Amino acid sequence: MNEILDRIEGMRDEIVKFTVDMISIPAVNPAFGGQGEEARAAFLEKKLKELCDEVKRYDAMDENGLKRPNLVGIIFGEDRSHTLWILSHMDTVPEGDISLWTHHPYGPVVDGDKIYGRGTLDDGQGIVSSYFAAKAILESGKRPHYNLGLVFVADEEAGSRYGVHFLMDKNLFMPGDLVVVPDSGNSDGSFVEIAEKGSVWLKITTHGKQSHASMPHMGLNAHRIGMKFALKVDDYLHENYGKKNHLFEPPESTFEITKKEKNVDNVNTIPGTDVFYFDFRILPDYRVDDVVNEVRSLAKDMSEETGAKIEVEIVQLAEPSATPEDSKIVNMLITALKEVRGIEPVIGGIGGGTVAAAFRKLDIPAVVWMTADDVEHQPDEYCRISNLINDAKVFAYIAMMH
Ligand SMILES: [Zn+2]
Repeated sequence: MNEILDRIEGMRDEIVKFTVDMISIPAVNPAFGGQGEEARAAFLEKKLKELCDEVKRYDAMDENGLKRPNLVGIIFGEDRSHTLWILSHMDTVPEGDISLWTHHPYGPVVDGDKIYGRGTLDDGQGIVSSYFAAKAILESGKRPHYNLGLVFVADEEAGSRYGVHFLMDKNLFMPGDLVVVPDSGNSDGSFVEIAEKGSVWLKITTHGKQSHASMPHMGLNAHRIGMKFALKVDDYLHENYGKKNHLFEPPESTFEITKKEKNVDNVNTIPGTDVFYFDFRILPDYRVDDVVNEVRSLAKDMSEETGAKIEVEIVQLAEPSATPEDSKIVNMLITALKEVRGIEPVIGGIGGGTVAAAFRKLDIPAVVWMTADDVEHQPDEYCRISNLINDAKVFAYIAMMH
């Protein structure tokens, strides 16, 4: 084992070059106006072919006729009955306001232990660390215990419809397989995510009647009623859904009033229509549907009370998910973190929404783990070279475990 770990340590220059080459090819998700994953996938497909026993490519076609590539590289194990999957995503969010970057987002800059660029961490680090774990095993003349599957998916940042969800019916992932998703973590690598809150986004539209601001009796102020409704829901849910679950930080469900759409252009008009949104993150102790039904019933009450019509629409909904604490992949990762890194792991849950949920739904235990500073989606996003190396060591260790 030590030979493999030492070999990863010696790959530093190669790891940096791979990361820089990959990040120089933008892969912004087309949902945010980007060019998509194709160019970056071409680079990665070539790299996988240099390494893997088998490389498959699954192209989804999106609603704009754009190819959305998904890459699957397999290295056969000594025991081919199961596969350890390490799943990372190729797409990124846009660079955002370029003036906030001190380094060019796609001209990745190496500065000490850091490589700056959009997607270096999210999720370039997952791709690079899993790739070099596999490479070190093979260059040491060894084979992983189970098959080792490197999966690089599209479309994670915009809901995974053309990514992991597209792959789910290709008969790749089987009961008894193990899944690690290196797409979120904390800065010392101690946090192992095994559960996610459910989440739902609601769009609330209040229909009143527009009038001049000096003549309120002629109209029905949708903005006022919308605000009252928002606060009513806020109070009600916090009072009635207050359970705590200490896997999570924060330990309770969260109910937030978030986006507000523009209403009238001028100050002296009473808005006839009002639109705002809720973002709820709900503990596995509750059903997301029940919460939505409560909001609908409160909307009905408020409509009757005020004469305004309040509509409740679901923008997005995900049920909570959890991997059992005593499952094999959790134990393997805990052992690896202790042995390779001297870390005392903390098992917990997050406010949700990773691709691990899709595996948990199929009863395939999945953990989300990486070593990452909190810079995803931010200007001057970076990954640490030491984390690329140390995460690769953990993946290599797990891949060799029986
Ligand atoms: Zn990500």
